[in-house]
Amino acid sequence: MLDNLGSKFQGIFKKVRGHGKLTEDNIKAALKEVRLSLLEADVNYRVVKDFVNKIKEKAVGENTLSGINPGQQFIKIVNDELTELLGGTNARLTKAHRGPTIIMLAGLQGAGKTTFAAKLAKYLKKNGEKPFLVGADIYRPAAMKQLQVLGDQIGVPVYYEEGSKDAVNICETGVKKARAEEATYIILDTAGRLHIDENLMEELNQIRKKVRPQEILLVVDAMIGQDAVNLASSFNETLNIDGVVLTKLDGDTRGGSALSIKAVVGKPIKFIGVGEKLEDIELFHPERLVSRILG
Ligand code: GDP
Repeated sequence: MLDNLGSKFQGIFKKVRGHGKLTEDNIKAALKEVRLSLLEADVNYRVVKDFVNKIKEKAVGENTLSGINPGQQFIKIVNDELTELLGGTNARLTKAHRGPTIIMLAGLQGAGKTTFAAKLAKYLKKNGEKPFLVGADIYRPAAMKQLQVLGDQIGVPVYYEEGSKDAVNICETGVKKARAEEATYIILDTAGRLHIDENLMEELNQIRKKVRPQEILLVVDAMIGQDAVNLASSFNETLNIDGVVLTKLDGDTRGGSALSIKAVVGKPIKFIGVGEKLEDIELFHPERLVSRILG
C-alpha cells in the first residue's frame, strides 16, 4: 500500500538527516523531491502545490527559531502535514441518538460496494451492534443475491425483493423490517452504474429523501487514482456525501486518491478496504497510514 511513495520519502529523509544543518538550499532540494514524489504518486497537482508551500513556510520558520536537530524537525513537519492532508484525526461513523442509524452506500459498479456493505455489517456486529442489510441494486440482480450469500456467511439479516425494479420502495420496506427487528444499523446497498448519469443520481436522491439516512458513504476504487477524486467530487455535488470508503487500497501502490480526496472534495475517508475478504476492512486512521508510508 503506497509503497513507492514510502520508499521515496524514506530516501529524502535519509538525505535530510545527513545534513548537519538545514540551509535554505538543502530544504529547497528536499522540497523539490517531495513535490516530485507526490506528483509521481498521482496526487492532485494543486494539492501538491499547497502541501509543499506549507512545509516550506514551516520548515524555514522553525529552522531559524530553534536550530536544534533540524533534520528531525523537517521530518516531523512532513509527518504532521501528511496526516493533516489525510484528514487529521480519524472520522468516526455516525450513530443516531435514538433508533437505528441508516447508512446509505453509493458508488459505481465494481467499486466494491456490495463487498463493503457486508464488511461493514461484519465490523459492526463484532463491535456489539445489530446490523441489517438492504439490497437495492436493482440493475444487477446478482448483487442482491451476492448480498444474501454474504449476509448468511456473517449471520446478518438481508432484505431484498427479487425481480423488483423499485429501489426506493425496497429501501423503505427494508428500513421498516429492520426497525421491526430492532436493528441498530441499517446498511443500504444501492445501485451502481458504469458511469454517473442523471437517472442514478435521481434514484439516489429519492432514496435519500424517503429514508433520510444519517450517513451517506461513497464507495470508490482507489486503483482508479485521480478518477476516484473526480467521481467523489461529482457525487458530493449532488448528494452531499458524509464520507468516502476507499476500496482496493491493497492494490494501490501509488496512493494519489487517498492523498487528494480530503483536500479536493472536503469530505473525510472513513473506511478503507484492504482485500477481498470480509475482514479486510479498516477504520481509517490518517496517522497510521502516515506511519506506514514514512516507516
Ligand atoms: P460493486 O459492484 O460495487 O457492488 O462491487 P463488488 O462488491 O461486487 O466488488 C467488485 C470486486 O472488487 C469483487 O471482485 C471484490 O472481491 C473486489 N473487492 C472489493 N473490495 C476490495 C478490496 O478492498 N480489495 C480488493 N483487492 N478487492 C476488493
